[in-house]
Amino acid sequence: MTAPLVLVPSYRLASGRVEGWTVGAHAVPEPYVAALERAGGHALAVPATRGSSAPEVLDRVDGLLLIGGGDVEPGRYGGAPHERIYGVDAERDALEIALVREAVGRRLPVLAICRGAQVVNVAFGGTLLPHLPDDPRFRAHGSPPAPNGSTHQVSVAAGSALGSACGSAALVCSSRHHQGIDALGSGLVVTATSRDGLVEAVEGRTGWLLGVQWHPEDTADRDPGQQALFDAFVREAARPRA
Ligand code: MN
Repeated sequence: MTAPLVLVPSYRLASGRVEGWTVGAHAVPEPYVAALERAGGHALAVPATRGSSAPEVLDRVDGLLLIGGGDVEPGRYGGAPHERIYGVDAERDALEIALVREAVGRRLPVLAICRGAQVVNVAFGGTLLPHLPDDPRFRAHGSPPAPNGSTHQVSVAAGSALGSACGSAALVCSSRHHQGIDALGSGLVVTATSRDGLVEAVEGRTGWLLGVQWHPEDTADRDPGQQALFDAFVREAARPRA
């Protein structure tokens, strides 16, 4: 059997972000690729440009992985500008939102990480909290974009796709996000929360759609409970579809 092919929209890196390059780049950080490959899948990185069309690229793949990145443009969810919003890429927002809707319509499995989980929520009409540290309840979630060693526990809902993937009721998670899910998108269910009550995972009611607010790829090489999310996703991607 050939390895399931997983579409991964890439980050746009500005000129100077790659050493020795004077031009920009499109990139997918290695830990995502490594976690997919350990699960038996292959990553197909696709740059988000004006020319990218969600239906066309989804025709060629078995699943969709949305990775971390800058903030979703607040106008996408009726939000106001905020001085701490960073890294907005309107073309990436447009492509990823279209991809999520199209993938769910086709029953393609979707794993969405950090920014990805926020994109899923926005794609289904939900809203985001613009900057968690504005609220003293939410101080344990680290700060993007650099990994800064922040970890916290999440409680996993019994009977959820997340619970059946990781096989436990709690996970220790690498966390670096300054935004979070506020109003839940329609058709989504919350399947993990942190102790402060923040939404940490959402799932769809049909098909296999899992969004997690933490970074399973950060610790998947040493935490089987985190690698299990990629394993379950790639198993779904390998399933024959009608
Ligand atoms: Mn968190």
